[in-house]
Amino acid sequence: MAWRTHMTQDVRKVAILGATGSIGRSALEVVAGSAGRLRVWAVSAHRRCEELLVLAQKTRPKFVVATDSRRAAEFDWQELPSETELLMGQEGLRQVVQHDEVDIVLAAIVGSAGLTSVWAALEAGKTVALANKEPLVMAGPLIMELARRCGGELLPVDSEHSAVFQALQAGRRKDVKRIILTASGGPFRGFTPEQLRTVTVKDALAHPTWSMGPKISVDSATMMNKTLEMIEARWLFDLRPEQIDVVVHPQSIVHSLVEFQDGSVLAQMSPPDMKLPIQYAFSYPERWPGPAKRLDLSQAFQLDFEPPHEETFPALQLGRDVARLGGSAGCVLNAANEAAVARFLDHDLSFAKIAPVCRAVVESHAHESDPTLEQLLGLDLWAREEVNKWQLT
Ligand code: NAD
Ligand code: MG
Repeated sequence: MAWRTHMTQDVRKVAILGATGSIGRSALEVVAGSAGRLRVWAVSAHRRCEELLVLAQKTRPKFVVATDSRRAAEFDWQELPSETELLMGQEGLRQVVQHDEVDIVLAAIVGSAGLTSVWAALEAGKTVALANKEPLVMAGPLIMELARRCGGELLPVDSEHSAVFQALQAGRRKDVKRIILTASGGPFRGFTPEQLRTVTVKDALAHPTWSMGPKISVDSATMMNKTLEMIEARWLFDLRPEQIDVVVHPQSIVHSLVEFQDGSVLAQMSPPDMKLPIQYAFSYPERWPGPAKRLDLSQAFQLDFEPPHEETFPALQLGRDVARLGGSAGCVLNAANEAAVARFLDHDLSFAKIAPVCRAVVESHAHESDPTLEQLLGLDLWAREEVNKWQLT
């Protein structure tokens, strides 16, 4: 991956897609704490128009985009600041991310819904700070190729990938042996497969170290999040699947590690706070003081590492298999998982069935080794329909 060496703008203008979400809100804090180095230039949200209006009044951006056009058309926007223009739907997002004036697009929409705006931004040669991992899981090779072809840049925001990105800067790419992604283990670390049969939505949403949106919280509980992250890392850093390992680290202080050929292992550490990886993607290659929590080494604390429990979390082996299969497998896995998580959150599918349903759908799909975007979007729809046919509680 080719990283741009610098940005010339004094004030970096940021478009925050998914501004009402967990990452979006942290990003707004980063901008507020940037001593004027960053400016909120555009914000988007899907359904929460009221929150978007309040955000616009507070940050006075050039554009707000309400992506659920129907909801937006029914809402009273009269109190929008006079300097702020309202746009709607995916077309509104496209206009914003391709606008001449925008310097950085923060992709913080959840799930495959973020694909088209990431695509449009890279097509226009923009710098994309990527929190939204699902597009890379769906279409990694196509997205990386698009970025190369159009001169766009992808900077990781996912904390593990930000850590790897930072640690990689200590050595030459050809000397990298492997990367090790850390996982908190989620709320069900130490559980047996039997114990997982009775867990509830509330249990799954109660993450021990991170406060996140509902979809990624469930993904952390199944460890599907680590699966998606293995595939994300594979494409983002151009690694072979066997160069990506996972270790459970319950304190979430070491965000990931890079091992070089000589056995040296470099880690990136900071308290669990997404403001730091968000800010690094905004400030790169500079480093600025900011609002993220800092590590306090004056108190005794412990760092633990343990192997993941494969039997309790079958999503991990599924991830390795999907990473090895490549082609259309990532897209089908992602769509199946989104559909299964939605059903679980609707109390319509039991927690322990999420990974097995995903495996069954991946294994039964017509695998394409070099799919087009159109083929991937077709398979995405197919996989969702397959999951919705399962009669399982
Ligand atoms: P969230 O559910 O809190 O927020 C999602 C945002 O996306 C909201 O602003 C919502 O309005 C918008 N959105 C939802 N559906 C949409 C649609 N169909 N079209 C357009 N916009 C839509 O999610 P989050 O936890 O902030 O996660 C966002 C992304 O960042 C996910 O891909 C997640 O995997 C990734 N991520 C999150 C964290 C975290 O700490 N929350 C960490 C790493 C990566
Ligand atoms: Mg992560």
